Amino acid sequence: MSVLVHTEKCTGARKCLIIGGGVMGLSTAWHLLKDGHTDVTVLDHPDPLAPSRDISKFFRVDYTDPERMKLVLKSKNLWENDDLFKPFLHRTGRIVAYPPAGVDTLTGIDRARSGLSLPARKHESARLLEDIFESTPISQQLEVVYNEDDGVVDWNRVMKSLKQECMNTGGKFQEGRVLHLDSNTGGMIDAVVTSEGFVDAAQTDIILAAGPWIMQLLEASSIQQPPLSRAPIATGIFAFHLELTTQQWVKYHNLPRFSEIGVCEFVCHPTDVGAAKVTWTTAFRNPSGDGALSEPSDVAKTSLAIKMMLDARDWVRKRIPGLKGARFKSIQSYWDGVTGNQNPIIVRHPEHPNLIIAGGGSYTHAKDLPYIGRVVTEVLQGTGTHSQFGWDERPAGKHLNNQPSLYPDLLFGDLELEASRDQRVKDWNRERSDWII
Ligand SMILES: Cc1cc2nc3c(=O)[nH]c(=O)nc-3n(C[C@H](O)[C@H](O)[C@H](O)COP(=O)(O)OP(=O)(O)OC[C@H]3O[C@@H](n4cnc5c(N)ncnc54)[C@H](O)[C@@H]3O)c2cc1C
Repeated sequence: MSVLVHTEKCTGARKCLIIGGGVMGLSTAWHLLKDGHTDVTVLDHPDPLAPSRDISKFFRVDYTDPERMKLVLKSKNLWENDDLFKPFLHRTGRIVAYPPAGVDTLTGIDRARSGLSLPARKHESARLLEDIFESTPISQQLEVVYNEDDGVVDWNRVMKSLKQECMNTGGKFQEGRVLHLDSNTGGMIDAVVTSEGFVDAAQTDIILAAGPWIMQLLEASSIQQPPLSRAPIATGIFAFHLELTTQQWVKYHNLPRFSEIGVCEFVCHPTDVGAAKVTWTTAFRNPSGDGALSEPSDVAKTSLAIKMMLDARDWVRKRIPGLKGARFKSIQSYWDGVTGNQNPIIVRHPEHPNLIIAGGGSYTHAKDLPYIGRVVTEVLQGTGTHSQFGWDERPAGKHLNNQPSLYPDLLFGDLELEASRDQRVKDWNRERSDWII
């Protein structure tokens, strides 16, 4: 076995090893380096199923939980004013359509906004969708708002740029898939075993930021897992990458982006000509064995993926008919770690003093990239109390969930069985003609 990172003479400052180079990991590395930590290593296995590999992300401030909103406002400040992040946030505006079942969410958002002295959202009629997107007239009652302050982040580029900045300030990056962590009799993690060898972790703080794989790694290491309500459960979703004609891209690039809550979202990429994606927002778990674990796996070639692509195609045809002729380029299966109350868990492990767990939440934490690492750094340094990100079981009331429609009640196996019986999926598998909208 080769040793990837050698223990250097302890200088007094502790070393930090961050497992996972996604939102949590990269943001933490940046903040640690800014605070003067000199020995920061990010060990990442860039998995194509990780949400950090996505091409674009929404930025928005609206949540039902005021604490969630306050956290976003801290990142907003950096997205708007820090030269590192500023070039990558594009203020596109966003139309959000809420079905009757989602109206509580909108009411909660208005309540939270009012508590933070932000104006309530102006409610529009569904006619706005017809005016802007030339949608076919909508019989269903939809509550529509236009958030002109929402935007889209040019995701790959901001991640590359932040990684480069970390390297420029002394951060080290290594590729390798962590298999498990070893601890000594005192509970200190002293080695990190990877597919390539192992990392000596003596005198090191370990930040476990492996997103939807956190629970697998804890289990493989026989380390106590957080209570179920705080466990980041791997939750799957499909995104469909589109290739628009240049004319379509120019048109939709200049229009607000569009989310129909609980159904589908359309995002035209802010800079890559022709690129866009639709995300079908039905989320599912993939339980394995007899435990509560859910396992990320590539399900892009399943019947469910085809069914959801056909559903997304029909949605686009109805809601954004100007996209006729655009092509489905690829189906992408992504997984995120979702906790019961949809707050991340950022906490020192109760039994392993040099292990910090940082992950979870729900489909919303890419926008925290500039700030969330400050929270992890404060937990590591013991300088901040962040009880909302703690280990303890806490009530997961619907009102606290910021994305109630994305809580994973559904199981992949059940959905796949249903999809395999769907006549449209069978027809598509025979003819394969509908890659075009
Ligand atoms: C389809 C989709 C769309 C989303 N859209 C938005 C959005 O529009 N706006 C928004 O704000 N948020 C969005 N999110 C949420 C956001 O992407 C996540 O909250 C965020 O990426 C979570 O960050 P993380 O660092 O915890 O995990 P990740 O981003 O998953 O990072 C974890 C990293 O660890 C690596 N890793 C995993 N296992 C190992 C291992 N064993 N060894 C080494 N490395 C490992 C992974 O490859 C990855 O690089 C979306 C999520 C999904 C799935």
